[in-house]
Amino acid sequence: MNESDGPTHRVDLLFPEQRLVFAHGRGEAVLQQTPDSPAGFKRYKEIQAAGDPAAMLVIPNASLIQASKPYVVDPGVAMQGAPYSAAIESYGVNAFHVQDVILTHMHFDHVGALIEFPGRRVFVHEIELRQPYAPIQKGLLELCDVVELSGDEGEIEPGLRWMLTPGHAEGLVTLLVDTADGLVAIASDCVGPMPEYFDEMTLPEDFPNRETLLAQWRKIRALKPVLIVPGHYPPFVPAGN
Ligand SMILES: [Zn+2]
Repeated sequence: MNESDGPTHRVDLLFPEQRLVFAHGRGEAVLQQTPDSPAGFKRYKEIQAAGDPAAMLVIPNASLIQASKPYVVDPGVAMQGAPYSAAIESYGVNAFHVQDVILTHMHFDHVGALIEFPGRRVFVHEIELRQPYAPIQKGLLELCDVVELSGDEGEIEPGLRWMLTPGHAEGLVTLLVDTADGLVAIASDCVGPMPEYFDEMTLPEDFPNRETLLAQWRKIRALKPVLIVPGHYPPFVPAGN
């Protein structure tokens, strides 16, 4: 690879997504055994549809981008053991050298583990900072140096771009990373919750912001990514690639 081929960055998972579903009530909580995250989501909906109490604990995919410097994307849920910092070290990167964090959006499950990265620069779209749920994360952001993204698209550095992909959250950004294998799209919760929805480019008729989301999916597909990292199921090669 010579310089004219452009940047080749890396994208790795810091913590693969997890979904724990509980049927609970009357002092009991029973963890549901499901083969994978989408099956867990279905089980959660089934319990609710039966009129019973259900609880779900979801941990999104957290990524490490290695570009001219390392970036953590969506640190995830705050957990004991500083798992995200430890995972950075597992890739041979000193966690203290990570000075930049990118939040695809401000839902709590993507932001809570920012507690492991105080004092860092945090990129987030300004629209997210105005959402009703943003104040919940205010204390965490106050520990950091917030860089507000604005507009429809932009570049964080060569080979690391973002585009606004609203629908799941108004200010959700999809990250576009040039890697040696091709373009990797970190689409977060823009893509989901079931893999077949994106595979078939359809969503249930009553799905919130259905048309907006489908328009984002067409935008992502048009870029022909070799890999898509959704929020809550494993990274996948889009059908047709
Ligand atoms: Zn999420």
